[in-house]
Amino acid sequence: MKETHRFFRLIWTTTQIRATKSYHRTPGEVKMVDRLANSEANSKRIAVVESCFGAAGQPLAIPGRVLIGEGVLTKLCRKKPKSRQFFLFNDILVYGNIVIQKKKYNKQHIIPLESVTIDTVPDEGDLRNGWLIKTPTKSFAVYAATATEKSEWMNHIGRCVEELLQKSGKAPIGEHAAVWVPDSEASVCMRCQKVKFTPVSRRHHCRKCGFVVCGPCSDKRHLLPSQSSKPVRVCEYCYLQLTSGNHTPRSECISRPGSKFNNDNLTDEEEEDDSSD
Ligand SMILES: [Zn+2]
Ligand SMILES: [Zn+2]
Repeated sequence: MKETHRFFRLIWTTTQIRATKSYHRTPGEVKMVDRLANSEANSKRIAVVESCFGAAGQPLAIPGRVLIGEGVLTKLCRKKPKSRQFFLFNDILVYGNIVIQKKKYNKQHIIPLESVTIDTVPDEGDLRNGWLIKTPTKSFAVYAATATEKSEWMNHIGRCVEELLQKSGKAPIGEHAAVWVPDSEASVCMRCQKVKFTPVSRRHHCRKCGFVVCGPCSDKRHLLPSQSSKPVRVCEYCYLQLTSGNHTPRSECISRPGSKFNNDNLTDEEEEDDSSD
């Protein structure tokens, strides 16, 4: 992969878009937004992104959507950091696996920006220029090639989120899914500090705190409605926190038809095979 492919390519600045969305738009500015959102260049770029994902991807062209920038980021996955192609639109963040750079991507993920919170991550070892992308369903760390690139991504994502919340009048989402600690960072269970991980004694992730824990320390399930309609694996510590009676989040009281508590899938680890990302 050529190094130049790594860089964030800014297409329209968010300031340009913001200028077009003020409440007191001049006729000239109204034209500007039309020019951006309805420009042939923007439509063509979105069509290119769609075609790179092929039939398995979602249609991306909707009225008012603008492709702001694109680039390769390193996404910290459960097993190891992986290169992923990211596309920042004014309302969504799209990413996928790179099959052929600039030609073919798969495993498309679409994140509505309205639910996104970003947080900087301090540099550590080889992992530099990173930040967290946190959403109610899933949170993860990404790393840019340079500090400049990081600040561009963070600035533009931040502005898009701010703009969307302003427009909708909604408050930022308070609760986010835990960022999973990568497997490699724990050779022993992060809760009991005793159980060593081996091919037999496998690693598990608590869905509440993101820690890498052993089976016995995470044999409980709890409903975290933003993450799944079924109860999910949580560690002993989080289970006690969640059930300590001090507060029962309202959402847990809602019984959902067709999704009874059952522990049939206690040993089902497919959920943790997140090889797709
Ligand atoms: Zn343990
Ligand atoms: Zn936990």
